Amino acid sequence: MRNRMIAGNWKMNETYTEGVVLAQGLAKELADGTGDVDVVVCPPAVDLKGVAEVIEQENAPFALGAQNVYWEESGAYTGETAPNMLTNIGATYCIIGHSERRGYFGETDEDINKKAKALMAHDIVPISCCGEPLEVREAGKHVEFVVDQIKKDTEGLEIADPSKYVVAYEPIWAIGTGKTATADDAQEVCGAIRKTLADIFGKETADGIRVLYGGSAKPNNVAGFLEKEDVDGALVGGASLKADSFAAMVKAAM
Ligand code: PEP
Repeated sequence: MRNRMIAGNWKMNETYTEGVVLAQGLAKELADGTGDVDVVVCPPAVDLKGVAEVIEQENAPFALGAQNVYWEESGAYTGETAPNMLTNIGATYCIIGHSERRGYFGETDEDINKKAKALMAHDIVPISCCGEPLEVREAGKHVEFVVDQIKKDTEGLEIADPSKYVVAYEPIWAIGTGKTATADDAQEVCGAIRKTLADIFGKETADGIRVLYGGSAKPNNVAGFLEKEDVDGALVGGASLKADSFAAMVKAAM
């Protein structure tokens, strides 16, 4: 069976010093453990080392994730971060394909596919995001839009261990806007994602892949999403920036 996952995307928030304090606060909130729930914290790149140290010192029950990676091993790629730099610092997850990176930085499905392959070659678990803009949802084309993203983002991937590939469905119109999709909206698309994954990788693999919902998920609404058959957790932006609210979401998933 799939362990639930709650992952926090800090985006471009928290300096190194603030990030250490937030991670320490979360370690305290989660000191009693997280049961079967896998918890991941994804700070900005410059905070990764500090958060890694907190996890080690406090024996904290959460894993470290990055927010981005480049697919090359090393070289003249100013400003980029290679997969082995992430493993070296203790990151075991990495968000790819976030709509903000697609929208503001022009990332394509082809880029996201290359990033997934590079991460998996280094045993880093991709948290691969997909999701439709408002106009696509209003046109009723959201399922086919997301299915197309999934097909492109996973092209040629080999998933030996389904617990090591995660998909996050994040309708763009619900990210940071306070507008949440309903639990039924999330299930409709997460179910279609799992069916697509089954068509590509087989049912057994698809049944082991976590599909998360993201978009204004909060302590007071996360339980409703988690009740749905194909929603295995949440990717959390704003509510991951306060240790108590993020911990409350972890507890709601336990
Ligand atoms: C996100 O950016 O991944 C996200 C889900 O943000 P928020 O929870 O703030 O909508």
